[in-house]
Amino acid sequence: MGCAAWCWSRATARWTRPRSVRSARVSMELFRRWGVAEKIRCAEFPGARPPDIAWVTQVGGHEIHRFERFTHDTHTPEPEQICPADWLLPVLLTAVGTHPGGSILFRHRLDGFTQDADGVTARVSRLAEGDTTTIRASYLVSTDGPCSLVRSACGIQSTPRFEPQVLRGIVFRAPRLAEGLAARGYRPALTYFLLQSCGARFPLQAMDNNGTFKLIAGSDEGAIDALSLVRDAIAFDTPTEVLSDELTNVPLMVAERYRAGRVFLMGAAAHTLSPPGGFGRNIAIADAADLGWKLAAEHAGWAGAGLLDSYDAERRPVALEGLEAAGIALRSRGSDDLSGRLRDDTSEGVLARTELGLQLAESVAHWDVDAPEVHFGHGYRSSLVVGDEVKMTAPWRPSSDPGFRAAHAWLRPGVSTLDIFGDGFVLVCFAPHQRLGEVVRAFEQRGVPLQILKCADPEIAELYRYPYVLVRPDDHVAWRGHQPPADPLLLADMVRGAC
Ligand SMILES: Cc1cc2nc3c(=O)[nH]c(=O)nc-3n(C[C@H](O)[C@H](O)[C@H](O)COP(=O)(O)OP(=O)(O)OC[C@H]3O[C@@H](n4cnc5c(N)ncnc54)[C@H](O)[C@@H]3O)c2cc1C
Repeated sequence: MGCAAWCWSRATARWTRPRSVRSARVSMELFRRWGVAEKIRCAEFPGARPPDIAWVTQVGGHEIHRFERFTHDTHTPEPEQICPADWLLPVLLTAVGTHPGGSILFRHRLDGFTQDADGVTARVSRLAEGDTTTIRASYLVSTDGPCSLVRSACGIQSTPRFEPQVLRGIVFRAPRLAEGLAARGYRPALTYFLLQSCGARFPLQAMDNNGTFKLIAGSDEGAIDALSLVRDAIAFDTPTEVLSDELTNVPLMVAERYRAGRVFLMGAAAHTLSPPGGFGRNIAIADAADLGWKLAAEHAGWAGAGLLDSYDAERRPVALEGLEAAGIALRSRGSDDLSGRLRDDTSEGVLARTELGLQLAESVAHWDVDAPEVHFGHGYRSSLVVGDEVKMTAPWRPSSDPGFRAAHAWLRPGVSTLDIFGDGFVLVCFAPHQRLGEVVRAFEQRGVPLQILKCADPEIAELYRYPYVLVRPDDHVAWRGHQPPADPLLLADMVRGAC
């Protein structure tokens, strides 16, 4: 469903600030569709280190709780993958290609744009050449970050919904930390939450396989020098070197609208969420998948007048929910009173750690690392989705509920139901019916691509619960029924945004 597109950025192809670590299942499923999931896994991060999260008093100190990642991934063909942005970018660049062979132009800065009834004209500075050029296109999708020039030019407000969050990020090297942990018989983890007696939980994250780590501390710790914070994070002496220590101001905002005529906002231009939970990049990738199929439909000529508007109706609520969920994840990092005895090697210390371990196991602390309710538990409520609203109840379970991501199931070894979706609409049929031909003809009449997937697997039929389920190109369920649709032409019009 592709169409020609140019992407440009004022940045270079090198990513200098490591961040955005998790590619959640929802992103990995999209990467699978786009043919890069395996390449991302082959980027070999985090190497042999288990991808677990451990709540500890110090690295190499007392471990209080552990979350074993990837042991909960039965509902997806693509488990989550840890891949910082600086590891992900080269894989995506190779797949898409940079100019002149591909469509990505680095060192090109958008200076302004105008739009008219037929398209958008962008004024662009070519920073390497020192001149300017114009680029004309049908649509402009703005991914120019939190201070988006495009958002301001469109007059779209993005007012903070909560107090901005100030995070202190300390990147340091501890090349012999892994060796020190192994010598003391400690099981390593990829992420540690350091439980401070003041109640805060600072994440400490491995950033590569060569001893580079990032410690995120609260801005309250500004008075304490970075090396002391790093040394206090580790329970034994090991050589450490601080590489950088900087404050990041994260405004917690969702734009008031995602569309202004032929211009769309996406990613951090549309929403900036607090980092806990790791929702920002993953929601941005799903934004791209949503708008992508709608622009392709427009380009192919079968989109109804309301299809592009549904991008805002479907994706803005996800960012708003993500903002709330990130707030819950942040609060779960805690400011509650932890026992001052947590580090003690006494019976009181053991009791304090046991109690806290039980508390963490039952709490939403895992939302910081694993939140399928947020990534998959959102059902779109737009005019494109036909059927009664179904509310998600935790814990999230895959289904064929209208608006939700259709359930993954293995059709045969290595082939998921999700592998069949993606190219137009798919009507999944668990029972034969003589009226299926009418549905095919109705979609043909409207130019909407449709394929029929006949499935005789009783387990998948039970998972989907309805014998006829219509799935959109983005894997979300558009409609389901006990019979084929009574008016297939009306259904085709509704799901393509023409009603
Ligand atoms: C400290 C921190 C940790 C985070 N951790 C996570 C995490 O673990 N998981 C997660 O999912 N998310 C995380 N996020 C959020 C994630 O980083 C963002 O959601 C993601 O970077 C958004 O990508 P983006 O491309 O929309 O915007 P950005 O990453 O902000 O990129 C915008 C790009 O546009 C370019 N640009 C700006 N103006 C122009 C112009 N006029 N012309 C041309 N180019 C321009 C910029 O140079 C930049 O390259 C974190 C964020 C922070 C601040």
